[in-house]
Amino acid sequence: MAELKRLSESRDLTRIERIAAHSHIRGLGLDSSLEARDASEGMVGQLPARRAAGLILQLIRQGKIAGRAVLLAGQPGTGKTALAMGIAKSLGAETPFASVAASELFSLDLSKTEALTQAFRRAIGVRIKEEAEIIEGEVVEISIDRPGASAVPSGAGAAAAAKTGRLTLKTTDMETVYELGGKMIEALGKEKVQSGDVIALDKASGKVTKLGRSIGRSRDYDAVGAHTKFVKCPEGELQKRKEVVHCVTLHEIDVINSRTQGFLALFTGDTGEIRAEVREQIDTKVAEWREEGKAEIVPGVLFIDEVHMLDIECFSFLNRALENDMAPILVIATNRGITTIRGTNYRSPHGIPSDFLDRLLIITTQPYTEAEIRKILDIRCDEEDVEMSADAKVLLTKIGTETSLRYAIHLITSAALASQKRKGKVVEMEDISRVYQLFLDVKRSTQYLMEYQSQYMFSEVQGEADGDD
Ligand code: ATP
Repeated sequence: MAELKRLSESRDLTRIERIAAHSHIRGLGLDSSLEARDASEGMVGQLPARRAAGLILQLIRQGKIAGRAVLLAGQPGTGKTALAMGIAKSLGAETPFASVAASELFSLDLSKTEALTQAFRRAIGVRIKEEAEIIEGEVVEISIDRPGASAVPSGAGAAAAAKTGRLTLKTTDMETVYELGGKMIEALGKEKVQSGDVIALDKASGKVTKLGRSIGRSRDYDAVGAHTKFVKCPEGELQKRKEVVHCVTLHEIDVINSRTQGFLALFTGDTGEIRAEVREQIDTKVAEWREEGKAEIVPGVLFIDEVHMLDIECFSFLNRALENDMAPILVIATNRGITTIRGTNYRSPHGIPSDFLDRLLIITTQPYTEAEIRKILDIRCDEEDVEMSADAKVLLTKIGTETSLRYAIHLITSAALASQKRKGKVVEMEDISRVYQLFLDVKRSTQYLMEYQSQYMFSEVQGEADGDD
């Protein structure tokens, strides 16, 4: 169980890294009647799509949509990934959100179906309830029991005792004497616990929480001074059982149980293939926990970007996987129109086979207006702590409308560097035009290649590329 705790902490970190490009998105920006506000929670415009996403969110929350899939379709840079992030953020930290690009599934180490299974199981959460034993009370004496040592008055002393001796903690109820193990003593030391402190101590994890200083048994709660909270000692409540909830994903349980160093594999990402028997055992165990009321399943969201890159085998896998009663909500995105379904010679909308298309709720995203691009750029400048003059913002918005939103967003960081280099305080128009010249956007890059194709290797461009791969 201690491993589970460490796990939930580590998951928060990976989540932060993953969403850096969309870190300004904090939700879908909807009001209580699910109407989209013009700009809210980092989201700008795209009102009909956000409203539709809000409805999906409500269905997810009511548990009515498991086994269904949503397709976000629209031109590049119109906020499909941002919408998926918005859904994830609104669901809260406990609902797992796994995100993969379809091309990642075609790796050399794992089969496609294994990679997809792992992605699915990363999007299925298990809430495990555990009873924790909490000791709560006033510290009246801290002493260590080793030859030649007397009472240890301070926290620092307690930390030292952790290495050499045994420490006894008496609480207000003088009958109760707790002999603490090394781990807990260390925790006490870190917290600098002294006589008169009122503490809560989790016996399983050794975590110490200082509740305040005791003002004796007879008086009620009182606040004295800015830093010290004086509380009434909770008499007669020295030993409590509290419910502690851990949230992990099925994939994390799989990995930990699939090899001896499983926990480390979670950090390196080197999980390898997981045997079917391991998964079966875990599913049986989780089913038992659910029956006993110890655990519940939290279907999360699996987001697959560039879904046109999936082949026909992946689509039939998805069709089957969505039938499972623990299936997460599948959100997929593509910027393709009518294109070939990989692994076949057939063309279909978004490169998705018609039987799978039939399952989908489709949300389309629209290109942004100039004002919306400006607003998104404003938000990104704030997010990246970049100060930009009004003129420079006008120029950057113009670049955004003529090239792409994503290109304009990328120029923010590089223009800030250019400004720093000339020791400027704010990003000016000259910085924007400098980086605009240094870094080509797609249109100029294509034009350049057309002009100079003969100087590149394997160049066989005859005309406009058709957009399909
Ligand atoms: P692609 O088809 O190329 O994958 P996409 O539709 O997924 O593109 P995003 O990656 O979501 O586009 O958008 C590009 C950038 O613009 C991201 O940094 C995203 O956070 C930001 N963005 C897009 N739409 C919005 C919006 N409505 N509000 C705020 N930021 C947005």
